[in-house]
Amino acid sequence: MSSNFDIKFKPELGNHLISTSDFTVGEVIFTEEPTLIGPNHLSPDVCLNCLKCVASSEEICSKCSWCLCRDCQSLNNPLEWHDPVECEILASNDTKNIYDSILPLRLLREALSQTRKWDKLKNLVDHYQSLIRKEDFKRMVDKVIVCEKISSLNT
Ligand SMILES: [Zn+2]
Ligand SMILES: [Zn+2]
Repeated sequence: MSSNFDIKFKPELGNHLISTSDFTVGEVIFTEEPTLIGPNHLSPDVCLNCLKCVASSEEICSKCSWCLCRDCQSLNNPLEWHDPVECEILASNDTKNIYDSILPLRLLREALSQTRKWDKLKNLVDHYQSLIRKEDFKRMVDKVIVCEKISSLNT
């Protein structure tokens, strides 16, 4: 990481960076690999591994029948996110294309396995209090629906 930042913490923001110098337009100031990825709750049909929109009904995983693009089917892309355990969970449950269950499922798997990713994820600030003020009813309903779907999965 650049020495042009200080890392700070505020309860309302969590960890954040404060610039200690000016930057030029277009300058890359920070890059980081995602800790966890997944489709959002209003996702169109996307590849579960790379999140690229799929263009054809033939772009599906041969085991679980969820969307998987041609590159990920051919293993041109490593199956980092749609791994064999997730595939087996989805294949053994009738959850086809309920995209809002994928990210919570991945989060729960990290938590249950107490991985290094989970150590990072559990320290993120959820901003729940500010979200509830903006779209309180819809978000609450979404959370209940996602929790019900997850609790019905056979793991
Ligand atoms: Zn893909
Ligand atoms: Zn699969």
